[in-house]
Amino acid sequence: MSVNVRVVKIGGSMKTKLYYRQCDSCKSGMSKGYIYHGDTYYFCDDECVGKYFGDYKGFTTLEDWNNNGPGLTWKEFQASWDKIDDNSYEYDWQLDICSYTEWTKGDELDRVYDQQGNSYLVPNVIFSNGYELVDGESQEEE
Ligand SMILES: [Zn+2]
Repeated sequence: MSVNVRVVKIGGSMKTKLYYRQCDSCKSGMSKGYIYHGDTYYFCDDECVGKYFGDYKGFTTLEDWNNNGPGLTWKEFQASWDKIDDNSYEYDWQLDICSYTEWTKGDELDRVYDQQGNSYLVPNVIFSNGYELVDGESQEEE
């Protein structure tokens, strides 16, 4: 007698989604977003950068830097991209100040984060069925 086994696949939504980085503003896990000053801070979107810095002139352009200028606010920094050429040195230089990126397999640090901002040690979750590490490309927009 044959037994008819039905395998019920539990949907991906049952797993806790984990992300490679954590937003320093809203604390949510994120696998794509902004890097500020060589990984000093991470932000999930424009709004979170704006909230974190407010009117603080925490940004700079090459011109501002060379002239020992006052710095730029996030809004001014965002606007500054329109004035420079994609292929210029200024452009690359500014990318080091703040740029948008995605993280994927291999980019994990010691910890990963869920959407609520809880952190997990990578070895505890990486091979566990209850968790899913979402890479930047598959992260859904909220
Ligand atoms: Zn955020």
